[in-house]
Amino acid sequence: MSKEKKLKKIKKEVINCKKCSLYKTRTLPVIGQGNHNTDIILIGEAPGANEDKTGIPFCGKSGDFLDEMLNRAGIKREDVYICNLLKCRPPKNRDPNSKELKACTPYLDRQIELIKPKVISSLGRYSMEFLMKKYGLDEQLDKISNIHGQVFDVKSLNLKLVPLYHPAVAVYNANMKDTLIEDFKILKDI
Ligand code: URA
Ligand code: SF4
Repeated sequence: MSKEKKLKKIKKEVINCKKCSLYKTRTLPVIGQGNHNTDIILIGEAPGANEDKTGIPFCGKSGDFLDEMLNRAGIKREDVYICNLLKCRPPKNRDPNSKELKACTPYLDRQIELIKPKVISSLGRYSMEFLMKKYGLDEQLDKISNIHGQVFDVKSLNLKLVPLYHPAVAVYNANMKDTLIEDFKILKDI
């Protein structure tokens, strides 16, 4: 089966998924969007209210900010792939719980396996923790304030992992915005 067919199959599975209780309260699942042949995947946490209505990742306020940072780093949104740890919105945007993460992240694992990026950037703490553990970087896992913008090598897979702050933290905080813009330039440099 081709990569495109396999990605379509994942999409179909997610649309019909009832593996955790979030399917009951979501409007649309947010599967992922962007270039399937990209070198860069950005991984957020979970859909918010706007994403739940449209099925598009990062299309609300955080999304506007994400777009601004990508622009300023000289990266086009359509050249990267953007998705989340969870495909369905947690009610009232609460944090994902461990049951939901366990049920949903196998979809993400398969998406990454098919797209085979050279760089993965986690957006926010949950995504950072999941990816650092997934790639055996547990010992280097630290507070996001200590390791944001650092480049971690996953040598066996020829992959670099770059934890970034979640764009939402910068919406109301100008200092964070500057930090995030600097960190995004690192993505461009690698
Ligand atoms: N926040 C996220 O983590 N993901 C989205 O898609 C939107 C907001
Ligand atoms: Fe399925 Fe993931 Fe949605 Fe839960 S969040 S219902 S595991 S697609």
